[in-house]
Amino acid sequence: MKDGDTAIVFLGHDSMFPVKVQHGGQTQTKYGVIRHSTDLIGKRFGSKVTCSKGGWVYVLHPTPELWTMNLPHRTQILYSTDISIITMMLELKPGSVVCESGTGSGSLSHAIIRTIAPTGHLYTVEFHQQRAEKAKEEFCEHKVDHLVTVKNQDVCKNGFGVTNVADAVFLDIPSPWEAIGHAKDALKVKGGRVCSFSPCIEQVQRTCLAMEEHGFTEMNTLEILPRVYDVRTVSLPVADLGKGSDDPSSSGMDRTSKLSQASVCSNPPQDVAQFKSGVPLKEVVGHTGYLTFATKSLF
Ligand code: SAM
Repeated sequence: MKDGDTAIVFLGHDSMFPVKVQHGGQTQTKYGVIRHSTDLIGKRFGSKVTCSKGGWVYVLHPTPELWTMNLPHRTQILYSTDISIITMMLELKPGSVVCESGTGSGSLSHAIIRTIAPTGHLYTVEFHQQRAEKAKEEFCEHKVDHLVTVKNQDVCKNGFGVTNVADAVFLDIPSPWEAIGHAKDALKVKGGRVCSFSPCIEQVQRTCLAMEEHGFTEMNTLEILPRVYDVRTVSLPVADLGKGSDDPSSSGMDRTSKLSQASVCSNPPQDVAQFKSGVPLKEVVGHTGYLTFATKSLF
């Protein structure tokens, strides 16, 4: 860790926060003080750091996932569940050129930047001036500013400011249908992928109509419904397969019928099955919304 880096102080899964590492800086935790000059600078990200009262914390690198969990919210943000689907369905990879609007709090932007580095580029458009400036500042602090261009303009009126360069376009704005034409212009001539996030189905319907009008194909809408794994331990009765295998009189047909009997029995009677319900975990963060994907094809 160096002076000026952002780090995540991790006290537990429910308790972590970002700090800016500074010569002479101090951070208070319930385990005591962390002194940046002696406890952080020169240490590796991931180190266990002992605070002044003797308790310890981990100090972690701000991965996009940790940044999403800790960033200062200026808007609603996209969470890692949606982001993982967006990354996969937009076929993002190192070297991809991506256009995004709005930038919002930069949650998705950080994930895109990590995926397309070191040779790709993100053009992100935000019409709220302070949000655009704050995002720029954070990209500089996180030393990814060479991978991203922030534009402060209305994407519905002025588009992305680039033409025929993008492999993918992502929209998270209230009226995405007004920006579909600009998305098409920003995509490469040979085509590419587009995705729009909307919280309600009426917005999705209007966006799909606009996509159709502009000749997009392969339209797909996914609804992301986060849910907690319900972990159970189940004991099944041991199937009685008989001892026919070394019995010369036992035919293949007999063994097959015994196996199928066993599979019928694998639905265990109540007195045999032992269900142990998992302790419910904290709800997975995320909010319901729809992700609509489409392709701009050459023809
Ligand atoms: N995806 C972002 C994230 O993960 O942090 C959150 C985006 S936030 C929900 C929507 C943003 O779009 C807001 O910051 C808003 O100011 C911006 N916005 C809305 N309409 C816009 C437009 N026509 N042009 C540019 N930005 C717009």
